[in-house]
Amino acid sequence: MLAARFYGGKDIRLEQVPDPVPDPGQVLVRVLAAGICGSDLHGYRQGTPSATARTPGHELAGQVVALGHGVQGWAVGDRVAIEPLVGCGRCPYCRAGDYHLCPDLEHIGGARSGGFAQFTVAPQDRLYPLPEQVPMDHASLLDVYAVAVHALSRVPVAPGERVAVIGSGAIGLSIAQLAAVAGGEVAVLGRRPAPLRIAAETAGATGIVLDAHSAEAVRAWSGGDGADVVFEAVGGTAQTLSLALELAAPRGRVGVVGSFREAQLVDVRLPMRHELSLYWVWSYALRQGRPEFAIALDLLARGKLQAEPLITHRYPLERIQEAFAVADNKQTGNSIKVIVQP
Ligand SMILES: [Zn+2]
Ligand SMILES: [Zn+2]
Repeated sequence: MLAARFYGGKDIRLEQVPDPVPDPGQVLVRVLAAGICGSDLHGYRQGTPSATARTPGHELAGQVVALGHGVQGWAVGDRVAIEPLVGCGRCPYCRAGDYHLCPDLEHIGGARSGGFAQFTVAPQDRLYPLPEQVPMDHASLLDVYAVAVHALSRVPVAPGERVAVIGSGAIGLSIAQLAAVAGGEVAVLGRRPAPLRIAAETAGATGIVLDAHSAEAVRAWSGGDGADVVFEAVGGTAQTLSLALELAAPRGRVGVVGSFREAQLVDVRLPMRHELSLYWVWSYALRQGRPEFAIALDLLARGKLQAEPLITHRYPLERIQEAFAVADNKQTGNSIKVIVQP
């Protein structure tokens, strides 16, 4: 099969490799859509050359083409989304349903080969059947939406609450959509006009330009004290944690979703005086026994979430270098979610 092999940094090569063979309990899937995630871009920007290549792609969906020994409940031709998290299944966290906290957690598209290839394998219990009305490329966004579902599990939003989301990337816009579904009044803070327009269209959100004056703008939007709930969805090298704490009203809740690459300097005086609650949001797993990935799929299938406006670019696997360049340069490419279609 054709696979994109990542040798560190921007060294992405298209190579012919043997088709993967499903082990017992595994399913062979023909990948039809795989999204480029912010975490893929971290490696792309900062990775160092490596002799051993990986095939990432953890936001993926496709069609079943072969079944490993003992697989039940799946048939060749089934349309599926793949949840990429694979816990060990034995540790206390996995047994409690918190497999995202498993010390031996692996990802399809991480340690395991992923979706930037024509085929991949997945354990049968990581597959979800796709209803006919959910297109493949929308299904590849389920990993993103599941993170947003988990963010609202950690920091629930009540109807009428004011929710400020810092960040207008795919994660920020997904959280905005979920917060709107929960009945919140949403504001999204971002630098680019196009994603803020999409936030308005898909979540009824007020767009606020992210600059030195955004704290005042959020207070004005809230009618005085700030947001009831703030989600930080930028991470990286931005210093957005102190901004998140600044945007919250007294007794407000702050969910940190962005993955930071640098230490954050935080003035704790205001959050203390305001008795803010701070929640860390990492990946996703189960909500009251139900996979958050399945909750996201259900919302998508029922038309509660709008994936289409988030998908700005689609490329065949042969043009994956171009796809990464466009995803990397958000300013000129104006990309939100870039999808590779092997
Ligand atoms: Zn991702
Ligand atoms: Zn485990």
